[in-house]
Amino acid sequence: MSMLSIHNPATGEILAILPADDAASVAAKSRLARAAQTAWARVALQERLACVGRFRAGVVRELESLARTMTQETGKPITMSRNELNGLLARIDFFSAETAASIASETVFDDATTQEQIEHVPLGLIANISAWNYPWFVGSNVLIPALLTGNAVLYKPSEFAALTGLAMTRLWHEAGVPKDLLACLIGAADVGSALLEQDLDGVFFTGSHATGQRIAQTLAPRLVKLQLELGGKDPSYVCADADPQTAAAALADGAMYNTGQSCCSVERIYVHEAIHDSFVQAFVETVRSFKLGDPLQDSSYIGAITRAPQLAVLQAQVDDALAKGARLLTGGKRLSGPGNWFEPTVLIEVDHRMALMREESFGPIIGIQRVSDDAEALRLMNDTRYGLTAGVYTPDAARARALLAQIDAGSVYWNCCDRVSPRLPWSGVGDSGVGLTLSRYGIQTFTRPKAWHLRRV
Ligand code: NAD
Repeated sequence: MSMLSIHNPATGEILAILPADDAASVAAKSRLARAAQTAWARVALQERLACVGRFRAGVVRELESLARTMTQETGKPITMSRNELNGLLARIDFFSAETAASIASETVFDDATTQEQIEHVPLGLIANISAWNYPWFVGSNVLIPALLTGNAVLYKPSEFAALTGLAMTRLWHEAGVPKDLLACLIGAADVGSALLEQDLDGVFFTGSHATGQRIAQTLAPRLVKLQLELGGKDPSYVCADADPQTAAAALADGAMYNTGQSCCSVERIYVHEAIHDSFVQAFVETVRSFKLGDPLQDSSYIGAITRAPQLAVLQAQVDDALAKGARLLTGGKRLSGPGNWFEPTVLIEVDHRMALMREESFGPIIGIQRVSDDAEALRLMNDTRYGLTAGVYTPDAARARALLAQIDAGSVYWNCCDRVSPRLPWSGVGDSGVGLTLSRYGIQTFTRPKAWHLRRV
């Protein structure tokens, strides 16, 4: 049996060694889940909702220890782990309130002879392949609606959040979800590949563009429903009429929250030249106030870099930007000593020749570019292969709407950033992926619409 070592990225120490899945165990779990799905689809929605209620109670009961586990295996500051779990409760409440109406059968035509109805039937057996950066959010965005709508799930948490994945699965089982219906698969890319070999009705993936593309290529011959929630290079523009201090405080948080390891982190900032210097001064002051340190301490704001190889990516982006003329205002390098740490880093005089402004950074580094008007900002914001989110800071609602209407992104923000709401669809365009989670559409996506043509003779 192969084993998976779980490391604490803040210290480098081994937290646990877990038995990993292999091709045979994945196939066995897949067969059991497939067999369990038929009965689960017949369980009344009220009973499935009761399971979700008990799952919620489990999360509330164990919140502090779940937060510690997530912090220890990912390096996420503990206050942010608690925020994620509290945010999960809001998502549970949304899905619990909305599922019945979202999947109720609809009569869309009815006359003397003919009735037409749409029924939402479960997809069947689905795979949930997850990222580590918000393991409770990205895991649950699939698990809650998939289970509520009658599906079986093979859930592969990231190898960097496997303890959290196991805890999540345990809480679902304790809440009454049959063990065979929801199986957790432990392992890395090889286990993910074995999962894709199974007889699946849907694959819901959250992770990097490179892996998403590989999964799409693997599944293409089999025409399995596929959703890919991938990365971003999310821009924000601060207009000439914005308050530079307020925008700087919000955007520093948007760029550095979760140590910059959010799919919707602010990754590029454009500032009108009229307020550029005062914005930059306030931004750097805010970033310097962020405390880097032990993720288990409440006072820490910057935690560890979860995956060690990302340190070299961050350093390469900083070095490339400096070689091409950028100016470093703070940070700029990894910290020596145990664990994976990178200083919060701010660069100005940047441009789109630099990888920093083109490739996903996924860490606490940010470039701020000066622009001379809205048209230039718009052109630069859209100069990307990605399209997850984009924001505009201005007190002028009409100006914001006009700009945001011309931006190709799944979500747009006026005077805010790095924000996700369970009520709104979460999706991307371009290299940020295909498909969506959250909102009523993120419930229906776990069903297929079955068309009923009924003729009274
Ligand atoms: P990753 O692509 O390295 O891994 C994601 C998952 O895929 C893991 O569970 C991994 O084990 C699995 N995997 C890897 N290779 C595989 C293969 N060949 N076949 C099947 N499965 C395989 O990504 P990551 O480092 O875990 O996550 C970071 C990325 O996720 C960032 O790009 C981030 O922007 C993105 N992300 C996007 C969203 C969103 O909602 N759009 C949310 C969170 C994270």
